[in-house]
Amino acid sequence: SPLNRSSSYDPSFINKMKNSGRNVVVFYGSQTGTGEEFAGRLAKDCAGYGMKGMVADPEECEMEDLSRLSEIEKGLAIFCMATYGEGDPTDNAQEFYEWLQTGDVELAGVKYAVFGLGNKTYEHYNAMGKYVDKRLEELGAERVFELGMGDDDGNIEEDFVTWREKFWPAVCEQFGVEPTGDQFNIRQYNLTVHDDLSQEKVFKGEIARLRSFENQRPPYDAKNPYLAPVKVNRELHKAGDRSCMHIEFDISGSKIRYEAGDHVAIFPKNDTAVVEKIGKRLGVDLDTVITLTNVDDEASKKHPFPNPCSYRTALLHYLDITSTPRTHIMRELAEYARDKDKEFLLKMCSPTPEGKSLYNEWIVKSHRTILHILEDLPTLEPPIDHVCELLPRLQARYYSISSSPKKDPTSIHITAVLVKYDTKTGRTIKGVTTNWLADMKPGADSTHRVPIYVRKSQFRLPFKSGLPVIMIGPGTGLAPFRGFLQERHFLKTEGKPVGDTILYFGCRKKAEDYIYEDELRGYVENETLTKLHVAFSRDQDSKVYVQHLLSENKEETWKLLEAGAHLYVCGDARNMARDVHETLLTILQECGQLDSIRAADYIKKLQNKGRYSCDVWS
Ligand code: FAD
Ligand code: NAP
Repeated sequence: SPLNRSSSYDPSFINKMKNSGRNVVVFYGSQTGTGEEFAGRLAKDCAGYGMKGMVADPEECEMEDLSRLSEIEKGLAIFCMATYGEGDPTDNAQEFYEWLQTGDVELAGVKYAVFGLGNKTYEHYNAMGKYVDKRLEELGAERVFELGMGDDDGNIEEDFVTWREKFWPAVCEQFGVEPTGDQFNIRQYNLTVHDDLSQEKVFKGEIARLRSFENQRPPYDAKNPYLAPVKVNRELHKAGDRSCMHIEFDISGSKIRYEAGDHVAIFPKNDTAVVEKIGKRLGVDLDTVITLTNVDDEASKKHPFPNPCSYRTALLHYLDITSTPRTHIMRELAEYARDKDKEFLLKMCSPTPEGKSLYNEWIVKSHRTILHILEDLPTLEPPIDHVCELLPRLQARYYSISSSPKKDPTSIHITAVLVKYDTKTGRTIKGVTTNWLADMKPGADSTHRVPIYVRKSQFRLPFKSGLPVIMIGPGTGLAPFRGFLQERHFLKTEGKPVGDTILYFGCRKKAEDYIYEDELRGYVENETLTKLHVAFSRDQDSKVYVQHLLSENKEETWKLLEAGAHLYVCGDARNMARDVHETLLTILQECGQLDSIRAADYIKKLQNKGRYSCDVWS
């Protein structure tokens, strides 16, 4: 965004490094902000070794310039690369990834290191980190330290810290530098308090452009979301103590287009009560309007979030106040605590086994947020502007769109489970987005509008509608298939050939969480659904899951696959998607007379042809 970008913006990062006397550039491929955060920490580390670092977004740089890094004395490029979805690059690393593949560049003399961010519950664990690390070497660059891999399903903070501890000594050895000892509490932003700024110049939650919510202009994207009115918000569960919402956003007149299978991103707002508690605990007037300005003129990010704004706006709209703070935040907070509390915090951030286990127990496993930490450590008194500088940005959440534009091009539907759980310390954590959405009332005033944009996906019905489809989606995994069903039904009414359409759905109890039951029955009656298999897991003593029903119908599954069927899996990545995958392998072996290697090969081929797609999350 122009507002967050410094005036000296130059796509040649090498020129920028030369002009500002820097020798280390840290690139990030980041979708949810963690990769960017790690990159920032590595760039900040440089000062502790007499080097000077900067963070760079590959999307905003001429990556061809990488070959010129050897012109800089002690030049080093670090890459913090996240893997997204099915082994894909993040949006901001897409072009860089494509460019690397073309391979028409010579990187001799370029020194580099890669830290990958991934999640072991997904099949293509850390694919991007591995690829960048290998590819740079193939292009002639010189690896100064082994590839690091973070697992978001485990403890990615610990993976990163452990890698970094060994990484810097390796840099010292290769570049002949030494730790200088001064690296903590270097404030990155200067605080300005505004006394009488006109309200029109103050951000109130816009993502990038001032007043963008008042004068909305397409196209809508991650920097310019559309403020969508809520048309419908109704409960899908019939009983039980959980809640699943069916929400319809009105996009009429917005020029937003989407396809069944796409995702919609939602920018949430934090819980007002939590924000008020933080303000009270830190003893500040939340209406104070401030600007935080990067002390470094050359930095690509001039402000940590849209400024000027009030502390209240920052805490409500821009900062992540409900996840567990990482160790570098705890380290900086320690400076504002006294006595035992200080000792405790310092111990927690020390890179010793005891420190790591203390952090893991007290922060991660107990899910202590910034507010809980402030509540539990009475001597901790950080200035609020420093807290605002340290906390990560509040991120948009994605939802599988549960409608088809063929049925209704003027609305986008989602199907979302309310997230609420209790922690070891007896506190209740409320999922930011789902709890905020739960209060959205149709037809109410403009505060009941939701900033959204559509993110295209690869999750698509076959181009030839005559091909059969098998859809497997328990729980909220049903969401995109509701869109697929609307689409297949529409094509049928248009007289197009529509192949067999088979759905496997699963829930806990028929009388509680069988969502969209009436609609699904309707699709069976009008023959849009050829077969509907529903697994109720808790209506009898033993568990019945979608994969058990799939197994029972193995001959049919095999026949359909041989007839060109497309197979889709959506929902829980942790257990369900993996178990379904295993079941498929077994079916192929039993019905196709394939050995285990051939069965795996069969699945690989389906994937490569786009006939086996997953839309899963953990
Ligand atoms: P957050 O404030 O983000 O809190 C969730 C956090 O709490 C997570 O880190 C989680 O690990 C943790 N957590 C949750 N339960 C527990 C527990 N019992 N104990 C400890 N920790 C816990 N969701 C849907 O409902 N429907 C969809 O169709 C859908 N589609 C998605 C598609 C994609 C591509 C992706 C990536 C995600 C999708 N999600 C979907 C998930 C959705 O994006 C959000 O993550 C979810 O709604 C929670 O958001 P929140 O802001 O309410 O919760
Ligand atoms: P759900 O209602 O919890 O589960 C749907 C059905 O799937 C239930 O019948 C469940 O059975 C069954 N199931 C459990 N394990 C399975 C397995 N290994 N294979 C096949 N079926 C299995 O579903 P949901 O609420 O839609 O959530 C789906 C998943 O997404 C959950 O794992 C949840 O943790 C995750 N999720 C995460 C977030 C987030 O904040 N990141 C938000 C929403 C959902 P039993 O429960 O009876 O075993």
